[in-house]
Amino acid sequence: MHSSHHTQTKRNILVVEDSPLVLRILERLFRLHTELQPVFCASLGEAQVMLETSSALFFAAVVDLNLPDASDGEIVDLVLAYELPCIVLTASYNEYRRDQFLLKGVVDYVLKDSQHAYDYAFHLLNRLETNRQIKILIAEDSQATRQYIRHVLTPQRYQLLEASDGDEALRILREQPDIDLFLVDHSMPGISGFDLVKRLRQDLKRKELIILGLSTDAQGALSAKFIKHGADDFLRKPFCPEELNCRVMSSLERRDMLRALKQAAQYDALTSLNNRRAFYEQGQQLLKRAHANGDSLSTVMIDLDFFKRINDEFGHASGDAALITFSRAFSEAFPEALLGRLGGEEFTMLSPQDAASLSASLDRLREQCLQSHYAVGAPPLSFSAGIYYSQASDLESLLHQADRCLYEAKRQGRGRNFWR
Ligand code: GH3
Ligand code: MG
Ligand code: MG
Ligand code: MG
Repeated sequence: MHSSHHTQTKRNILVVEDSPLVLRILERLFRLHTELQPVFCASLGEAQVMLETSSALFFAAVVDLNLPDASDGEIVDLVLAYELPCIVLTASYNEYRRDQFLLKGVVDYVLKDSQHAYDYAFHLLNRLETNRQIKILIAEDSQATRQYIRHVLTPQRYQLLEASDGDEALRILREQPDIDLFLVDHSMPGISGFDLVKRLRQDLKRKELIILGLSTDAQGALSAKFIKHGADDFLRKPFCPEELNCRVMSSLERRDMLRALKQAAQYDALTSLNNRRAFYEQGQQLLKRAHANGDSLSTVMIDLDFFKRINDEFGHASGDAALITFSRAFSEAFPEALLGRLGGEEFTMLSPQDAASLSASLDRLREQCLQSHYAVGAPPLSFSAGIYYSQASDLESLLHQADRCLYEAKRQGRGRNFWR
């Protein structure tokens, strides 16, 4: 669930461009995108030598169609012959040529007309890296259409899978739950595209699957029908390469944005524990079920001891390190319970364990925290806990009772549990 920004080696990008103005813009952008390392060539001849000797070092190429020794896009054939992803920069837009180049297998055809266009080219370079992790299933009974789609999507470096009817598609989706996007034709022998969408949308485990409908549609009503059944978007056949690429990319990015929003709304940014709101939401659900079953459970309130002193004497960063260290150990110690950070250095938990056994687990966690080295020279990491074991009732009053126990643990000298 955590977003990982692990360091990676730089990706080398071959840039073939002769215009000093464009080079200046590109150099500036490469300085902003430190994950990309440009290697500049000013002509087809230079690029040829570079690729002959070092093609394996490159991740992708960005090329100008009009070079001093090759004015008609010859550079594209050269780059594609080395199977390098190729982004075309061009000064003049021509729809026919654009489609031609896309069908040849370039990643995209970008018009050098604005800052936005250059930003877009860099965005594409980064998408190429993420796309390698994206799995797309194409369900389409016409082999020619399947091949066309594969041909158009291949330069984007997605992992592509194919099914020739609905049953095969369902089987592949079952076997590979990590498929990200499902491109589905409506009229296929056997189960139709609509029915597939309906079935997939009833499966809660499939909530995040992106579905793009596909159909020849004379009346124009099919698109609405697809979307009403739960598809995310729709493409009318025949479509041009660029349209397919744009729809696939925009729905992937929409999903990524939604995921990031959900993540930010649910988890505390510092500790990755449930935030107060998420804890309350899930806690209330949990209590409702426990109440219906007549179950008892423990409500726990935890507060770090003398935390203000860590902040004041060792700096806020050390305080943050203490919070992170505690949270990590806390989650590892109670993988099954519902945990949350209520705010500041206050944490909470709902657990089916009874008070005595929970208190023993918290003692072990305390021992571990006291031994941890979260910041140089800082005092041992200590906490107090209040545990209230009772029949499930409403969350507010359970937390209030646990808080009273916590107060008692603090009063008795901190670094201990108090349970009732
Ligand atoms: P006690 O043993 O009685 O609990 O004493 P205490 O110092 O832990 O309690 P107090 O409530 O006085 O101090 C809590 C401090 O936590 C005050 C606040 O500045 C700090 N704090 C709250 N949120 C954060 C955070 O996200 N990071 C850091 N570093 N400090 C925080
Ligand atoms: Mg069909
Ligand atoms: Mg405290
Ligand atoms: Mg406090």
